[in-house]
Formats: sequence, structure tokens, C-alpha cells
Amino acid sequence: MAVDNPSTGEIIARVPSMGAEETNKAIEHAAQAFTSWRKTSPSERAYILRQWYQLILNAKASLAHIMSCEQGKPLTEASAEIEYAASYVLWFAEEAMRVQGEVLSSANNQQRLIVTRAPVGVCAAITPWNFPAAMITRKVAPALASGCTMVVKPAQQTPLTALALGELANQAGIPPGVLQIITGEATAIGGAMTANSIVKKLSFTGSTKIGSLLMRQCANDVKKLSLELGGNAPFIVFDKGDVAHAVAELMKAKFRNAGQTCISPNRVYVQKTVKEPFTRALVDAVSKLKLGDGLDPKTTIGPLIDEAAVQKVEAHIANAQTLGARVLCGGKRLESQRNWFEPTILDGVATNAQCIEEETFGPLVPLVIFDTEEEVIALANNTPFGLAAYLFSDDIHQVERVVNEIESGMIGINTGVISAANAPFGGVKASGLGREGAHIGIEEYLEMKYQCYGHK
Ligand code: ADP
Repeated sequence: MAVDNPSTGEIIARVPSMGAEETNKAIEHAAQAFTSWRKTSPSERAYILRQWYQLILNAKASLAHIMSCEQGKPLTEASAEIEYAASYVLWFAEEAMRVQGEVLSSANNQQRLIVTRAPVGVCAAITPWNFPAAMITRKVAPALASGCTMVVKPAQQTPLTALALGELANQAGIPPGVLQIITGEATAIGGAMTANSIVKKLSFTGSTKIGSLLMRQCANDVKKLSLELGGNAPFIVFDKGDVAHAVAELMKAKFRNAGQTCISPNRVYVQKTVKEPFTRALVDAVSKLKLGDGLDPKTTIGPLIDEAAVQKVEAHIANAQTLGARVLCGGKRLESQRNWFEPTILDGVATNAQCIEEETFGPLVPLVIFDTEEEVIALANNTPFGLAAYLFSDDIHQVERVVNEIESGMIGINTGVISAANAPFGGVKASGLGREGAHIGIEEYLEMKYQCYGHK
């Protein structure tokens, strides 16, 4: 299977194209490894994970280079992602030591009630291309910390970062079979992972369409599921907010990975009274972005992942224009380079435009003007999704009112940077099931075992 550089189109590597047979072999191997891995002590697992963490950090520069070549993001962002990915490994190395049970009060004196926690078993993970390292460590680290074993299918576009992390896992002493990485055909591998009854849990990050398909496939033997799916994040700027600060945070949240993140602000709602200064400052900031190849140190925004991604941004812009929107800057791909798309701002976007109703996953900021708090809450919630939301206001009462009403798993208040290993990442509504990171991130890989002891 060829792996290309989205910036140049050059084929940079070939990886094995595996299918159902190899996936089932890996699952059997993972089941074998589980018999001994689940019996290791939490401190042994923590020690090995810390070794992996250190090796990832030591290899930061080369991992970032690999990632930038296969995914396109600028080197500084790739390097930051490696640190972020490593932070999950350290976090869950420590959480391994904090898995605890409970002794419950009993309704009578004849019984003693105890709850312990046991690893779920063999797990499978399917990950996307937008964060080729972090989406893997977020799943693998809590799985391994809890005593589970895992088979991972990285996205076809970005298998190299995954394989490099796997090699470092070997060097860290993670035993054979505990972590395996399968590259190849998505439908065949995903089909085998979901059909095989040895697999007790699937963790998936990707589109809602595929997440819901995998959920159906997992229904036969009722596998546990964690799903991190699509978002449609509103970014709300109230006139009681700091406009300059809101612009600075929007730049970080929106243009990271050229807008290809599931928590990227997809709809920007600006209160009418601050529209002028906000728009002026935003156009100014966007015009300073430097679109280019990820390996060029001057680049601040890289290419999109592929032609389909470019076409989606083009279609969203064209659709908004037919509904009356105006391009304030950008608006097109660079003729000379395949997947390079100019950072774009659209003004006067209709609330029923495609770019408001669907995730664009590209460097597009659609501006929608609103009058009242009530109006913007209704607009923000008018979506099947509920992953992230952002709001800017210095009025604490307003913040509290809006936070209470917004249907979203995560809310940034006066900040555009919300992800961290110690925080619960995940969504409500069609944005998914479960959370990654925080203490709850390891709970997702543990089953409770309630024991009721009777006295004779
Ligand atoms: P994106 O649009 O971001 O590529 P996808 O949901 O299509 O989102 O992809 C996320 C992950 O799901 C990738 O690893 C991809 O290979 C995988 N995938 C896509 N289709 C299937 C499928 N039918 N079964 C299992 N995995 C799939």
C-alpha cells in the first residue's frame, strides 16, 4: 500500500496491505499475550509505559519529520503533537497505579460487598489520519495501563507514524502481542475486528458515518465501544468578550492542522455590535498565515490531506456564496500545488449553508452575525453534533447561562485550546460515546466485578 506526501504527491513508502486473515491472527496473538499481561502488576505496566514515553520524547524530531511527510502538518505542529501524544502515555502510566476497588456497605450483617476492576480483554482500535500519533496513544496507553492488549489499525494515509510508535513500544519492552499494528484495507480489517468474538472492545475515532457502521457491526456480540466522532463546533463571540483575545484564540483553534481537527471551530458567531473590530482583526491575522510545505520552517499552515478534502472546502464555499456569502480573504486552492488551500474567511453566511450544517474540515471561517444570547444558543445547538464549543465573554453570569444551555461534551471559555491528557475528551449527541484522557479514560478499559460474600 503506497503512502504519499500530501504536500507533493510523492510516494514516500509502501506498507503491507493486510486483510481479515492477518487481523484474525493478530487478535489470536493478542489473546495469548493477554493471559500474561493482565497478570503483570500495575507498577510493572507503569514502568514499561514510562519507558515508552521517554523513547517517544527522545525520538521527537524524527517522529515529527515522519508525521509531517505523510500527513502534511507543519513541523512545529507535528513536534507539538508528539509531545501531546507522549503526555497520554505518561498520564496513563500513572493512572495504572490508581485503579481501585470498593468495599460497599451491606444491607445486612450476613453479607460483605466488594467491587474490583478487571481489564476488559483484547481491544481493537481504529484511528484517523489527522492526529497520527495522539489518536493512537490516547487509546493504547489506557488499554495497556489497565492490563488489556490491543490491535490498532491506523488510517491508510498515515501508517508510518503508527509503525514508528510501535517500534518504540518494542524497544520499551512492551511484550510481543500486547500492542500490534495492522496496516491495510479498512473494510476487511474493521470487519474482522468487529466480527471476531475474542475482541471485547472497539475504540474508534473518525467520522460519524463509519462510527455508526462499526457500532452496528459490534452489536452482534455486544462489544464495548468508545466512539470519538464528528463535531460541528460553534465559536461564539459576545460583545462582553475581549475581541482581540477571541481572534487570537480562534487562530489557534481554527488553523491548527489546516482546520482538520474534530474540535476545530466550524461556525463563528459574532455579536452584531463587535462585528466590525472582530472581522478587521481576523482578516489581518489570517493574511499573515504562511501556506506551504510542512517541512519548510516558515510554514504556519500546511496542505489538506487529499483531493477529496480540497473539493469539500470548495463545495462549501460555493454553496455559501449562492446563499449570499462574501469571500473576505482566500477562497481557492493554489493552482501550482495539489492540496494547498488558502485560509479563507466568509462573511454573511446563511445559517442553512452547508458549511454551517456540516463539518468542513478545512481552513474555512464562516462568519454569522447574531443579536441576542437566546438567538445564538439556539443556533449553536441546532446540530446533531456536540463535541466542542467555544465562547468568549467577560460577564460571568452570561458565561454560566450559556454553558448551562450549550449541548457539548467540551466547552472552551475564553480559550481556544482545550485538549489535555488530564481532561476528559469526548462528545454528546452524534459526536460519540465515552471519554478519552482523564481518570475516566482508563475506566473505559475496565469492567467492574461485584462480589457478594455471604457469611456461614
Ligand atoms: P475520515 O473521513 O477522517 O477519513 P473515516 O471515518 O473514514 O474518517 O476514517 C477513520 C478511520 O476509519 C480510518 O482509519 C479509516 O481507514 C477507517 N475506516 C474507514 N472505513 C472503514 C470501515 N468500513 N471499517 C473500518 N474502518 C474504516
